[in-house]
Amino acid sequence: MHIVLMGAQGTGKGTQATILAQAYRIPHISTGDILRQAVKDGTPLGKKAQAVMERGELVSDDIMIGIVRERLARPDCEKGFIFDGFPRTIAQADAFTEAVRDRGLRLDAVVSLEVPREILLERMTGRRVCRGCGAIYHVKYSPPEVAGRCDRCGGELYQRVDDHPDAINTRLEAYERQTAPLIDYYRQRGLLKAVDGAGLVEEVAGAIKSAVAGQ
Ligand code: AMP
Repeated sequence: MHIVLMGAQGTGKGTQATILAQAYRIPHISTGDILRQAVKDGTPLGKKAQAVMERGELVSDDIMIGIVRERLARPDCEKGFIFDGFPRTIAQADAFTEAVRDRGLRLDAVVSLEVPREILLERMTGRRVCRGCGAIYHVKYSPPEVAGRCDRCGGELYQRVDDHPDAINTRLEAYERQTAPLIDYYRQRGLLKAVDGAGLVEEVAGAIKSAVAGQ
């Protein structure tokens, strides 16, 4: 199963991608996670990307396409993948089509998670991430058992710099301007599955599985 999961920040892409990756036993490829790891490791890529990410803007298409081509070349992508956070521009989508074809693969579905803006804002400002294992929590909707600590690994929970209000607005605008046009792009190619992402995590996961199965 080769899937792309789209949706504005806060639609639950990361959470849903993790669930689907486990269900289908395929790799979950989050370009945001790849970049955050590069920043943490202080690699040349991380140094280039850090300031752009903190402002909530998009990293250049060339850099992103390079990262994704490299990732697609790993053998675990042959049986499937779920991309989360890529592609985000038409140029990335065109390059992705080519890169997937070059590997002899075919995209099965593009799922677009749709959630009203007020809910997105509430979800993002309450989001906390584990510094150790990357697990995602919400102060109100999925709090950890011990405040500020990860249930899985005991790591410290933090708020991403780009989950602060100014960066959130920049990111939502970037989504509307640069990424929302991809919905039409994939609709025209017969790949789009629009799914209501406002419900409970398990309900949304079920809706995505049905949408993908019905392709
Ligand atoms: P995310 O975790 O997907 O929200 O990504 C966090 C940040 O990483 C974004 O706000 C961008 O700065 C950068 N980023 C992640 N994926 C992409 C992409 N496909 N194109 C450009 N920038 C990206």
